[in-house]
Amino acid sequence: MHIHEYQAKTLFKKFNIQTPNGILIDTTVQASDACAKLEGDIWVVKAQVHAGGRGKGGGVILCRSVGEVEQACDKLLGTQLITPQTDVKGLPVNQVLVEAGQNIEQELYLGLLIDRQTQKITVLASTEGGIDIEKVASETPDKIIKFGVDPLGTLNSQDCDSIAQKLNLADTLAEQFSQTLLGLYEIFITKDVSLIEINPLITTAENTLLALDGKIDFDDNALYRHEDILALRDISQEDEKEMTASEYQLNYISLNGTIGCMVNGAGLAMATMDLIEHHGGSSANFLDVGGGTTAQRVAKAFELIQTEKNVSGVLVNIFGGIVRCDLIAEGILQAIEKVGLNLPIVVRLEGTNAAAGLKLLDESGVAIHTESDLTQAAIKIVELSK
Ligand code: GDP
Ligand code: MN
Repeated sequence: MHIHEYQAKTLFKKFNIQTPNGILIDTTVQASDACAKLEGDIWVVKAQVHAGGRGKGGGVILCRSVGEVEQACDKLLGTQLITPQTDVKGLPVNQVLVEAGQNIEQELYLGLLIDRQTQKITVLASTEGGIDIEKVASETPDKIIKFGVDPLGTLNSQDCDSIAQKLNLADTLAEQFSQTLLGLYEIFITKDVSLIEINPLITTAENTLLALDGKIDFDDNALYRHEDILALRDISQEDEKEMTASEYQLNYISLNGTIGCMVNGAGLAMATMDLIEHHGGSSANFLDVGGGTTAQRVAKAFELIQTEKNVSGVLVNIFGGIVRCDLIAEGILQAIEKVGLNLPIVVRLEGTNAAAGLKLLDESGVAIHTESDLTQAAIKIVELSK
């Protein structure tokens, strides 16, 4: 689960990580009050969306007057923000964070994640923080300092000091750095985090170290024991279809292609998508309806696929192991009865009760192309969806 920057910063403060003063608002009329409370004469208006790259996407606006802050709020609130990390639709900006502007001396990077190769929680740090950290990581990886924490031990202040030294931080900045890193580690451990990141972590002209941005991803499987974190969920930032799908225990991911896929089993779904691609098509989604599926779930899955905007054809590929193909056929017919069928559809059934399932479809009078061979089915749907 992702959270917003302002929520990450609230958590930072609880764990002794310093951040700029900021006020969250959701209408422009609140802007002048916020500026007055924050004092100073420079403010930054920051769109709150679950994606990075906001700076590049115009979602972080530096303002030199209250009027400019109001303009920035007007420009962002109620719009969809598109950044290099969102899809073409972008994400809705329902709130902005107005922050006191800072005199930035240096932009550092500091993050913690689970490195599966070394099987350790790993600290990543760099003197080259800011909006191009991805470029730094890929082009000059030696500029990223890595430190693995012993899973049976803990992160101690000597470790922090040595990382601070490598970042050329001394005296009070090194002390603030230790405090920041220990706070991040504490959040990571106690909240079952999978990634936590401050980019940029800045040093200011006043010799302070501040978290100017904050990103935290939590392990979904551990959310049951963190009610406080679960309460931070913002469903306006999540894909609607993926949400409905999870309610019905369907594993659904929207993609950019034109052929809707309904498959049982993740491996078979991937193979099906590869085959569509191989024959010149592209998938509109990944969908695994799971093992012990029901007619009702199939109907829901079918509904979801049909509402995907770019879909021009549907391929159903079911291998009946635990699941019975005749039940799948019933689900498809139920769905068509409910939502109608305005797209070409190819159904390939194989395995338990396949013959009965295909017979049901063939005798239904609905315009469904049935196939028992997967390659033929893929070729057919690519052709029909053109
Ligand atoms: P991101 O692009 O989504 O990662 O958003 P960030 O919160 O990291 O902001 C992007 C960039 O905006 C930062 O790297 C800074 O260079 C700049 N920025 C953000 N806040 C301030 C500020 O208070 N003062 C100044 N001068 N620049 C800021
Ligand atoms: Mn950032």
